[in-house]
Amino acid sequence: MIDVAIVGTGPVGAVAANLCGVHGLSAIAFEREHQVYDLPRAAVVYDDVQRILHGAGVLDAVLPTTSEMAGAEFLDASGKRIIGFDIPPGLRTANGYPPVLSINQPLLEQAIRSGLGSHPGVELRLGQEVVEFEQMPDHIELLVRDPASGATRRESARWLIGCDGATSGVRKLAAIDWRNLGYDCDWLVVDLELHRDVGLSRLCQQVCDADRPTTVLPLAGKLRRWEFQLKPGETVDEMQSHDRVWSLLGRWLSPGDGVVLRAVVYRFHATIAETFRQRRLFLAGDAAHQTPPFQGQGLCTGIRDVGNLIWKLAMVRRGQATDDLLDSYTAERRPLAVAMVEHSTRTGQLIDAYAAMGCLTTLSGRVGPWLDETMHGGCWVWR
Ligand SMILES: Cc1cc2nc3c(=O)[nH]c(=O)nc-3n(C[C@H](O)[C@H](O)[C@H](O)COP(=O)(O)OP(=O)(O)OC[C@H]3O[C@@H](n4cnc5c(N)ncnc54)[C@H](O)[C@@H]3O)c2cc1C
Repeated sequence: MIDVAIVGTGPVGAVAANLCGVHGLSAIAFEREHQVYDLPRAAVVYDDVQRILHGAGVLDAVLPTTSEMAGAEFLDASGKRIIGFDIPPGLRTANGYPPVLSINQPLLEQAIRSGLGSHPGVELRLGQEVVEFEQMPDHIELLVRDPASGATRRESARWLIGCDGATSGVRKLAAIDWRNLGYDCDWLVVDLELHRDVGLSRLCQQVCDADRPTTVLPLAGKLRRWEFQLKPGETVDEMQSHDRVWSLLGRWLSPGDGVVLRAVVYRFHATIAETFRQRRLFLAGDAAHQTPPFQGQGLCTGIRDVGNLIWKLAMVRRGQATDDLLDSYTAERRPLAVAMVEHSTRTGQLIDAYAAMGCLTTLSGRVGPWLDETMHGGCWVWR
C-alpha cells in the first residue's frame, strides 16, 4: 500500500508529490488530463512560496520561467498613482528570495512536474480520474477510472489529498461544506502575448476608474493580463467579442501589438471548505479555498497548504509523531486561508470603493488609512 494518493496534479498536487518524494513518502499523483492546462492562470508567487518550491527541489527548474515583479500601485482614472510601492531590482527578502515573481502557470507546472522523475517512490499517473473512495480504519480505498477507455481499477493508500481544484469531487464525495465568504463578481480576463515592447509598466496596476475598474499586470516573459469588471447588464457574449476586447485594450495597445490568448468572463469567488481534514482525507489548494485574484494569493495559498501538510504525514509515517499532529493542518492552514481570502476580497472592494468615489484627491485623506492597512497590513509586506 502506498502512503499518499494525490487526486489532481495541477500545481498544488505536483508540489505535494515532489514534497512526498523529498520526505521519503511513497505516493501516486492521479491526474485526469494528459497535458498541463495550457492557458495562464495564476500570475505571481511570493518569496515564502519560492522557499517551499526550493524545499521541494524544483525552484531551480522554476526560476528560468519567471520574471521579478517591479511593484504594485493603485491608479486613479487618469493614470495618476494614488498609492503604491516599487521593488528595487535585486531586492531579496529575509527568506533570501525576490519578494514576488511573475509566472507563466503552464511553464511553472511543467517545471514542477519535471522534478517528479527524481523520486523513485512517486508516480504520476496521467489520464486517470479518481471517481470514488471509501475511508477504512487504517487506509483509504480508491476507485480510479481511465476516462478514455472507461476501465476502472482499485488502489489503496494510507492517506488521500484532494488537490482537484475548485470544483473538487473529493470535497463533494466527503460532503465537506463549502462556505461562501461574500464576493461574487464577474470580470473579463484577457491574456495577451506581446509581439514587441510597447512600454507597458512592469508593476501590477489597479486602475480605480469609476467607468470600469481594471487590473493590469505583467505575467512572465511577453505575457500580459488585463481584468475588466463587468457593468450591470453587460453580457458574457458581448464582453468576449473580438471588437469589445480590443476596444477595452485600446487605452494600452492596438491589435498589431500582440495576440490575445484568451478573453473569458470569470466569476471571482471567495469560498472556504469547512474543514481541511476528515480522518484520512485532506483538502489542499483550490479544493480547500477559492480567492479573488486581487492579491495573487490563490495558487500561493495552495502551495503553502501542502508545505504545511507533507512533513507532518512523513513524521506520523515514521512513528515520530502521533496522528494528533495531523489535526494541526486545519488548525494552522484554515485561518490563514480565510485571512488571505478576506484580504483579497477587501482589496477588490477597495478598488470598487475608490472607483465609486471618483474624486480621489479630496477623499484620499479619509480612505488612506484603510488603503494603508490593505497595502501594508497583509501580504504586500516583505520585511
Ligand atoms: C483566470 C484565472 C486567473 C487566476 N489568477 C490568479 C492569480 O493571479 N494568482 C493566483 O495565485 N491564482 C490565480 N488563479 C488561481 C490559480 O490558477 C489556482 O489557484 C491554481 O491553479 C490552483 O491550483 P490547484 O492545483 O489547487 O488546482 P487546479 O489548477 O485547478 O488543478 C486541479 C487538477 O485536478 C485535476 N482533477 C480534477 N478532478 C480530478 C479527479 N477526480 N481525478 C484526477 N484528477 C482530477 C484537474 O484536471 C486539474 O489538473 C487564477 C485562476 C483563473 C482561472
